[in-house]
Amino acid sequence: MTIVTDAKNGKITEEMKVVAANEGKDPEFIRRGIAAGRIVIPMTPYRDIKLCGIGEGLRTKVNASIGSSSDIVDDEAEVAKAKAAEAAGADTLMELGTGGDFLGIRKKVCDAISLSVGSVPLYQAFITAAKRDGAIVHMTEDDLWNATEEQAKLGTNFMAIHTGINNIVLDRLKAHGRYGGLCSRGGAFMSTWMLHNEKENPLYEDFDYLCEILKEHEVTLSTGNGMRAGAIHDATDRAQIQELIINSECAQKAHDNYDLQVIVEGPGHVPLDEVEMNVKLMKSMSNGKPFYMLGPLVSDIGAGRDHVVTAIGAATSAAAGCDFLCYVTPAEHLALPNIDDVIEGVKTSKIAAHVGDMVKNKESRDLDLAMGRARRDLDWEKMYGLCLDPELARSIRDSRAPGDDDACTMCGDFCALKIVNKSYNLAK
Ligand code: SF4
Repeated sequence: MTIVTDAKNGKITEEMKVVAANEGKDPEFIRRGIAAGRIVIPMTPYRDIKLCGIGEGLRTKVNASIGSSSDIVDDEAEVAKAKAAEAAGADTLMELGTGGDFLGIRKKVCDAISLSVGSVPLYQAFITAAKRDGAIVHMTEDDLWNATEEQAKLGTNFMAIHTGINNIVLDRLKAHGRYGGLCSRGGAFMSTWMLHNEKENPLYEDFDYLCEILKEHEVTLSTGNGMRAGAIHDATDRAQIQELIINSECAQKAHDNYDLQVIVEGPGHVPLDEVEMNVKLMKSMSNGKPFYMLGPLVSDIGAGRDHVVTAIGAATSAAAGCDFLCYVTPAEHLALPNIDDVIEGVKTSKIAAHVGDMVKNKESRDLDLAMGRARRDLDWEKMYGLCLDPELARSIRDSRAPGDDDACTMCGDFCALKIVNKSYNLAK
């Protein structure tokens, strides 16, 4: 029995009521969305979490990804990043550590925050094999199942699982080639293992067993995007679309046969004119499953400001119907993000999500209307209260304080708003 079973049986659960209240929706709307596979509420029996609805008709959600690497291992820094991401407004957090005692760090992160936490169990399986037997190609199927169970019991309640990389996908990848290689760690691990061992991906071949494990621990499946392009010129190629087809089929099976909640992951690096098409394609193929866009980055030359490059793609994808955005930080492609990068990434993606919501749901524009009026009235306290980053706005104004408290130092004595407000009444 899962929340999908309840939804299919017409039962409105407490979780559905909480999400409905958060979103300003009728609980029946949430129930119908979950029953149809268009909405998920990641859950876990292992810890108390802040419930977060993701999917059609709901606010666009933002995920922050953190985690140690083989080069940088700092437990306290990862916990601090997780807390900072939650404070900055992230809706979920993915803990993707691969360095040091990464399971121990994940446990500390899960204990430190109330957000849903996502993970990629495949990393653990391959790293376990590399430590035990000297190479990732020695991973066993049991390594995968054990990692999935172990991570579920830590309270990670949605998992990116690379179900869609099968031999057909790899044939397409090799035949078509890539300008920018393969940038997904999961894709790199699994494809290397499959080619070396001349075996099918166990996550695809034994998908039913995977579903049984996920169901037992109430984990939401996020079908991983292992063929994610790491270069604009590889976007929407044959391997990516082949994987999307497989992932869509797996997603449907998981929802229909196992009553699992499922998210489908998308790309990656996508030029702006292909973003909407990717969203529509994925939604159409997956029967409207919640869509999780990793970025997307709409150019490859923004290193150092890739959070901005991503915000452009993320706003476009959210406006087109994407439900869930993975942030990108200024450190993308350059280094492990630090706490400032994490905060900047979350706040930038929150703006992108809001911009997308302004198109998806016109009521989201009410905040912008209030801000317009506050600006007209030169009501600075109200403006700070309405903006997404009040501290930043206040600090910039205070750092160049005007002589005239009403205006700002941009126009000073010749503040257009003040001149008009004194001369005639435009208010509406
Ligand atoms: S001084 Fe110029 S920029 Fe500043 S509030 Fe007035 S019109 Fe706007």
